[in-house]
Amino acid sequence: MKLLAPKSLEEALAMLAADAEIVPIAGGTDLLVDWPSNLDAHTRTYLDLSALEPLRAHRLNDHSLVLGALSSYWQVIEDAAVTAAFPLLASAARQVGAVQIQTRGTWAGNVANASPAADGVPVLMAYDARVELVYKNETETVPLAAFYTGYKQMRRTSGQLIRALHLPRRRYKLERFVKVGARRAQAIAKLGVAITCSGAGWRVVASSVAPTVCRCPALERLLASGAPIRCPEDLLPAIDRDTAPIDDLRSTADYRRRVLARVLFATLTEEPTA
Ligand SMILES: Cc1cc2nc3c(=O)[nH]c(=O)nc-3n(C[C@H](O)[C@H](O)[C@H](O)COP(=O)(O)OP(=O)(O)OC[C@H]3O[C@@H](n4cnc5c(N)ncnc54)[C@H](O)[C@@H]3O)c2cc1C
Repeated sequence: MKLLAPKSLEEALAMLAADAEIVPIAGGTDLLVDWPSNLDAHTRTYLDLSALEPLRAHRLNDHSLVLGALSSYWQVIEDAAVTAAFPLLASAARQVGAVQIQTRGTWAGNVANASPAADGVPVLMAYDARVELVYKNETETVPLAAFYTGYKQMRRTSGQLIRALHLPRRRYKLERFVKVGARRAQAIAKLGVAITCSGAGWRVVASSVAPTVCRCPALERLLASGAPIRCPEDLLPAIDRDTAPIDDLRSTADYRRRVLARVLFATLTEEPTA
């Protein structure tokens, strides 16, 4: 294994431009669990981002939140202003792994890892996050909702680094994140759902029910229509259009679609908090 340790973003980008096979490493919490079983990973060249202090910062102003590429879950949990402005970020962060993972793991690493069961991605997507990608001195920004193209496939080409995630600041009438797992810590989601409603419309984002974390356009249209939803089963036709759950070691496809319907129904019918 070779480890490159750039001291600046410019140096990191030059290294990536010279060899697009280099693998960026942020907190390492996804990459390193793979090591015991993935021997190929031992011979790769890694780019350790941890000395790039400017990427660690997050910035909240009246219009947006910017999470630098090294911003961790713990940073959000500890920041009362961010937690108040984006409560679902804190809610998801508290449910990622346990404290050790929350302090090392990054939002950008969660996005780039592209797991369909990720907990950070649904809440970022429900807040209309955009992914800022940089290659040499070229920057592009892609909506997170359009970032994934298939299982573990994304619109990040090799050589591109995620520099930051950008979230617009809005007034929300409803914000919820629910993760269904076998236990409260150290559990991969059987399913997850993040829901927001603002002047920009409804966002319903589900995890563990498709090859990628995904927005659910049929559900969003149903909620926007104001059609009466009398029981969880009324949501199933839209859920079946939006998702493609599978049976796996954590759950069954049918459990996932039915529990998603129940979780959504409970969220939509619960008493609003003041
Ligand atoms: C015990 C344990 C429990 C966990 N529990 C959960 C959980 O409950 N929920 C959950 O969602 N995840 C969980 N994870 C997975 C992991 O912790 C998260 O996905 C975390 O956010 C990854 O961030 P990282 O900084 O550690 O990423 P890394 O491991 O450093 O990188 C992950 C991927 O992202 C790429 N990458 C990282 N930063 C960049 C960048 N700036 N630009 C381009 N590519 C980049 C890397 O090359 C790699 O492919 C768990 C992991 C462990 C080990």
